[in-house]
Amino acid sequence: MIGITSYGAYIPRLRLDRMAIFQGMGWFAPAIMMVAQGERSMCNWDEDAITMAVEASRDCLRGRDKSQLEAFYLASTTLPFADRQNAGIVSAALNLRDDMITADHTSSQKAATTALITALESIQSGQRHNIMVTASDSRETRTAYFYEMWFGDGAAALSVGDDDVIAEYKGSYSLSMDFVDHYRGADQKYDYVWEERWTRDAGYGEIIPRVVNGLFDKLGISMDDVDRLVYPCFFKRDHRSIAAGLGATPEKLVDNMHEVCGETGAAHSFMMFISALEEAKPGDRILMCGFGQGANALYFEVTDHISRLAGRNGVAGSLANKKSTGNYLKWLKFRDLIKTEMGIRAEAPTQTATSVLWRKNKMIMGLVGGKCRECHTPQFPKADICVNPECGAFHSQEDFEFADVPAKVKTFTGDLLSVSVDPPAIYGMVQFEGGGRTVVDFTDCALDDVRVGLPVKMAFKRKGVDKERGFVNYFWKAVPVPGAAEEKDIIRFDDRVAVITGAGAGLGKAYALELAGRGARVVVNDLGGARDGSDQGSASPADKVVDEIKALGGEAVANYDNVATPEGGENIVKTALDTFGRLDIVINNAGILRDKSFLKMEPENWKAVMDVHLNGAYHVTRPAMAAMKENGYGRIIMTTSAAGLYGNFGQTNYSAAKMGLVGLMNTLKLEGQKYNVKVNTIAPIAASRLTEDVMPPELFEKSRPEFVVPMVTYLCGENCQESGAIFNSGMGYFNRVAVYTGPTVQLGDPDNPPTPEQIHENWNQINSMDGAGEMEDANTAIFALITPPAEASESAESDEQAGGDVQAVFDKMVDGFKADAAAGVDVIFQFNISGQGGGEWYCVIKDSTCTVEKGAHEKPACTIKMADGNFLAMMGGKLPAMQAFTSGKLLIEGDVMKSQLLEKLFVIG
Ligand code: NAD
Repeated sequence: MIGITSYGAYIPRLRLDRMAIFQGMGWFAPAIMMVAQGERSMCNWDEDAITMAVEASRDCLRGRDKSQLEAFYLASTTLPFADRQNAGIVSAALNLRDDMITADHTSSQKAATTALITALESIQSGQRHNIMVTASDSRETRTAYFYEMWFGDGAAALSVGDDDVIAEYKGSYSLSMDFVDHYRGADQKYDYVWEERWTRDAGYGEIIPRVVNGLFDKLGISMDDVDRLVYPCFFKRDHRSIAAGLGATPEKLVDNMHEVCGETGAAHSFMMFISALEEAKPGDRILMCGFGQGANALYFEVTDHISRLAGRNGVAGSLANKKSTGNYLKWLKFRDLIKTEMGIRAEAPTQTATSVLWRKNKMIMGLVGGKCRECHTPQFPKADICVNPECGAFHSQEDFEFADVPAKVKTFTGDLLSVSVDPPAIYGMVQFEGGGRTVVDFTDCALDDVRVGLPVKMAFKRKGVDKERGFVNYFWKAVPVPGAAEEKDIIRFDDRVAVITGAGAGLGKAYALELAGRGARVVVNDLGGARDGSDQGSASPADKVVDEIKALGGEAVANYDNVATPEGGENIVKTALDTFGRLDIVINNAGILRDKSFLKMEPENWKAVMDVHLNGAYHVTRPAMAAMKENGYGRIIMTTSAAGLYGNFGQTNYSAAKMGLVGLMNTLKLEGQKYNVKVNTIAPIAASRLTEDVMPPELFEKSRPEFVVPMVTYLCGENCQESGAIFNSGMGYFNRVAVYTGPTVQLGDPDNPPTPEQIHENWNQINSMDGAGEMEDANTAIFALITPPAEASESAESDEQAGGDVQAVFDKMVDGFKADAAAGVDVIFQFNISGQGGGEWYCVIKDSTCTVEKGAHEKPACTIKMADGNFLAMMGGKLPAMQAFTSGKLLIEGDVMKSQLLEKLFVIG
């Protein structure tokens, strides 16, 4: 049996909203409104027919042995080279073998179906067994034109052969005639198009029925033998009426994809055919036509084998991976339809030495590096000496293809100075799984999308164009894997090991189930003792939780040690290391209560509570910290309580222990910093046996531990960069608790200590928390204490007189917001203002509204750091923003360009 053996497609991620074309040019060409529905696909500035063909071909080759290909045909009318075989470029990028035939099929919209028939007949003849035909087009049109709306960019690939056939080839019929509905002269960029009526009536309207009926006659079949009918025709109404005229019911007709991508030129018959294959079941019969200077019709029957095809993007996957834009000027720039000043940096020589290109052909075109024959270490580029310092073998490198190796972002930057069609130029280092790393450009993403650790895939793109000599340079770039950024936001603990003390019940059990459900391997520690810790304990609570985790498909091990002893702590950590080989997370949660008023608080009750809570955390965390230091990673949670933070009658022992844990965290966060160990503290409110007789019943009902779990889970995650913070959590309410220090008052002088009477006199000022702030560590606090007020108020960086109230500026910010200037703006500004009146505020601008809040936003686009005086001067119109920036008074982090919006969006002065 011969026929289609695989398929693949590529539609660029960018889609231009057709209304943006109309909004930009409707004043000039109002009639284009008639076809302004949906969106058209749009090449990125570094894509063309070749790059799209490479991607569609890679999709088609998924799960297939590319060394079996014996011929590769490329069909397109927008090939970048008139004399340098374009199929050869694609073949080099795919790293196909060189003892094969490659050919360009061009000069007609039906080139792809012609190439396909040629390929199928070559298989039928028995001369070849495996051929790939890829079609790709990115046609140019002038602006404000119907065809700008109708056309789309894209590529589609079909492989054909005599084994593993997914759609059997039943036959074809062709018409060749010099019918000219449009043409593009050899030296022209744009099509010349005859009247639409002519194209519709004499073109599609006559030629498609003729070729379909010709095929029916040749194969002795009728429309009853066709389940899906594929032919391109960008006139929506005529597309339907031709099918109706042929006797096809509407559900047989495959959509022409106008709304979702537009007509992709020579690739479009394949594109529609693949969309039909994606929905097809064995036995379905598909008739595909190509149109242009006549037409081709091919008839296929889908086989059982289609269900065994490896997963791929195809048309559906490509359509799903999209980034819509309404930026028509960007479209014009990307297509080179408007001339922008690129600066003198763009004048750097762009000539390509074809000799070097040939010598490094595999490396540049095929992203081929080396792999050491002796130690199997991959590296890019290939070198004479193995990079592995423990190997260092000479001339041991075998070819190794990196194009399909999963990779992650190791470092990156956004560069506004480099020449770029779409600034900032984003580039950085990618690390390949299994070894090898290289510096590459990032594309198909915004700077905000890129993060260290983000999975990327390599894609063949245009590196640059030498317009003077008509040469296009290609190389591989990194593209964020679709959905990976979103997935990265999903908190997972795969490969992480967690110790949770007191996890046999209450909060600890809830943490254990959640972390295990998100992939962690968990040591469920619980002594199984009484509420006051007075008995010997039992293995049952820990065992039950382990059973529950395992029943849900998770991994866990029980441990029954007592956290109150050093050996117990050691053993809990040992259980993690012995069972799972590492330790990443510790939640110090075990707890007991022995409440008594202070005068009745005997030493054993004091000590028992100290031993479990404070000493317990020390016993477990110390050996855990040693393991975390080894890994250079750790997340530690302490459990405090409102009793310790604020006081609670009858709980002096518990309060002291719980506040002791805060002290432990404060210093451990500093010591853990360089090992990437983050330490935070939770102050939970949850129904458990510890709270059943303390909480009012209605509160007890509502306080399910599950409402505390999300905060602890977040604090245990890789994304959490917070360290040294305390959070109250319960019933879905969260807030942060911190130790604040008031402003310094200096009394006396260096030689004469002040008198107690002076303290009394200045009491209100000393006792005031106006302008209080948090201190990073003890040294910062001591420095703040001994910094004389005059210097403090001057503020190191502020050379403008404050003369105003920073808070008042933020209070008025919303009034000064220019909503009409904010259409389409979606940005979050964070303001960190230092000095006496300073603090943190953030401003969210979305849907032409502006809100201002005090505090720090989690994901600001742009952070503005200024001293209070400078800030007031800038917002008062006395200090221009640009001058503040260039003089270093305004520091900007994140997206620097966004800061330019400030003057546009707010009335300043
Ligand atoms: P819980 O009694 O349900 O759970 C505590 C678990 O710790 C028990 O299963 C117990 O067997 C275990 N345990 C006690 N001593 C141990 C030891 N020496 N070694 C190993 N395991 C031991 O109580 P919970 O409410 O889930 O409390 C969990 C933590 O949260 C405690 O530290 C508690 O002080 C703290 N906390 C709870 C609340 C709340 O509202 N529930 C409020 C503030 C703080």
